[in-house]
Amino acid sequence: MKVPPTLSTVLGNLFKKPATNPFPESEPVPVPEGFRGKLNYDVEKCVGCRLCVMVCPAGVIEYVPEVRKVTFWLGRCVFCAQCVDVCPVSALWMSDEFLLATTDKYEDNLMWFHGEEIEEFKRKLEEQKKAKESAKKEAPK
Ligand code: SF4
Ligand code: SF4
Repeated sequence: MKVPPTLSTVLGNLFKKPATNPFPESEPVPVPEGFRGKLNYDVEKCVGCRLCVMVCPAGVIEYVPEVRKVTFWLGRCVFCAQCVDVCPVSALWMSDEFLLATTDKYEDNLMWFHGEEIEEFKRKLEEQKKAKESAKKEAPK
């Protein structure tokens, strides 16, 4: 009797190793170069130009006028990297991080540069302003 081609493939595969990656018991499949994972932000580099706010199609980025920086709600990000491409000072970049599942959409990992961080930045700006003013007063005329 002739063995049908499908059956011979099935029988052949029965004796091969499984071609699966049993994550989380093993490491996840490595990401390729240029992978677009979680967005990252360098607050010190940011010049507050707002270009990222204008190009973001998902309303992730919000301008904070008091500190002339931006804040993010990454739970809405669609990983398009348009903000990264438009930023003139490279203050934004996509990381390799992709394990972002959470039960809390407001968790800190998805909402940085907000709340206490903004307040701290405000305090820092205020201190810099005071230091400049006192340096001006003390400068010889
Ligand atoms: S990657 Fe795209 S969706 Fe995410 S913050 Fe940047 S512009 Fe918005
Ligand atoms: S585009 Fe870059 S420099 Fe401009 S506000 Fe966004 S992060 Fe800051």
